[in-house]
Amino acid sequence: MPCPYYTQKGLAEMDCIFCRIAKGEVKSNILYQDDKAVAFPDINPKAPVHMLVIPRKHIALVSDLTEDDEELMGHLFTVANKLAKERGIANDGYRLVVNCGPHAGQVVNHLHLHILGGRQLRAMG
Ligand code: AMP
Ligand code: ZN
Repeated sequence: MPCPYYTQKGLAEMDCIFCRIAKGEVKSNILYQDDKAVAFPDINPKAPVHMLVIPRKHIALVSDLTEDDEELMGHLFTVANKLAKERGIANDGYRLVVNCGPHAGQVVNHLHLHILGGRQLRAMG
């Protein structure tokens, strides 16, 4: 059996900053974790509250998702909801953002949910 690190996926995971945070190889202030998801603050916050929720599984892009990932994606929303409530932004409202690919400005190729809140956010456009 080939070493997983020699497969393309294995290499991507070794290089991936979010995989490394999820594995504890790169230090972050972990806000939530379980066997499927991890959440931590965005290093360059765009709002008073800016958290990221990621699957432990390395999925680069939303466009890479398959039907097998449906339950996992639902779980990320459940985690986001829980964190928003904990941080006290749920009543006033918040925004969940998932960028996919270059036109959306995705820079980290590990699927992540941005949770943004704590102030009035500008209309999207
Ligand atoms: P995106 O444009 O959707 O790919 O957003 C990537 C986000 O990841 C940006 O908002 C970055 O500030 C954030 N980010 C990059 N590296 C780290 C890190 N080591 N810890 C926390 N957030 C990060
Ligand atoms: Zn990754």
